[in-house]
Amino acid sequence: MAQILDGKAYADRMLEEVRLAVEAREAKGLAAPCLAVVLVGEDPASQVYVKGKVAACAKTGIRSVERRPASDISQSELNQVIDDLNGDPNVDGILVQLPLPRHLDAKAALHRISPAKDVDGFHPLNQGRLFEGLPGLRPCTPSAVMRMLKAHGLMMKGQRAVVLGRSEIVGKPMALMLLEEHATVTIAHSRTVDLPGVCREADILVAAIGRPGLVEGSWIKPGAVVVDVGINRVTDVSLGERIFAAEPAKLAKLREKGHVLCGDVRFGEAMQVASAVTPVPGGVGPLTIAGLMMNTLEACQGKPCD
Ligand code: NAP
Repeated sequence: MAQILDGKAYADRMLEEVRLAVEAREAKGLAAPCLAVVLVGEDPASQVYVKGKVAACAKTGIRSVERRPASDISQSELNQVIDDLNGDPNVDGILVQLPLPRHLDAKAALHRISPAKDVDGFHPLNQGRLFEGLPGLRPCTPSAVMRMLKAHGLMMKGQRAVVLGRSEIVGKPMALMLLEEHATVTIAHSRTVDLPGVCREADILVAAIGRPGLVEGSWIKPGAVVVDVGINRVTDVSLGERIFAAEPAKLAKLREKGHVLCGDVRFGEAMQVASAVTPVPGGVGPLTIAGLMMNTLEACQGKPCD
């Protein structure tokens, strides 16, 4: 049986590290870091995510401010909101919650954020720094995953790593970070030929595709470390019967409640083949929020892009 990589427990350690650093700042008479969250409209999932981020701020002593413009805000009005936060010396980090309403250009909004306050690490300048291997604000999900893997003493040098998914938020930065640690990295995506065969080569397999249970146990190399970034809400019982065949408790929950959360990997099957696996929920999700807190602290202390 594989070891469960408890992302929640490691995220709690990261949050405590941030809390102590904030406390130390305050003891020296310095202000606590401040994160500004911009939430456009009333999207229910986004509201839940923002609530989680604000709660993590409260837990660590980071101050938070929220801007909640209505969903019909224009691009120029949104630009003004971002410009005001960019110019506010009391704000250290700015996060624009995605997705934005369709009429808005998300990339333009993200590029408008000052690179020094870009705590999501999505600004091209920060992406460029990552590309060059320079310190800077890096995307929260992959950087927190790397922290946890290192904390578990995982040896990456010379290992074969396969990253499923090539998004700018997870897949591409994850691949760059694994490369930085001297893994031999393959990025796979929807046009990859023989996805199961490519996955089977991986000593470290990271799945970030948003397809519930796509990765079967037979796709996993025995002894591999599996990181499941996907977060999927499953409501279809017939799909559940296929992907949760090795997870009877999850299937029972789906039948009872009508919905469950799962990753891109069939967790029950992976547990029988891999050496370590992150669960969903309780794996990468909490790590991402902890990574955001780390970045806010870093933006406040280091301002690497000034
Ligand atoms: P995304 O932008 O939609 O990208 C998905 C990637 O997966 C794309 O590169 C796509 O390939 C690839 N893909 C889709 N279907 C595939 C298939 N059948 N076979 C192979 N590749 C396939 O998604 P994302 O933002 O990276 O997020 C991925 C997942 O991670 C989602 O479930 C999301 O909710 C989750 N997520 C979780 C956290 C967390 O904190 N745990 C954070 C961020 C994201 P193409 O490029 O060829 O289209």
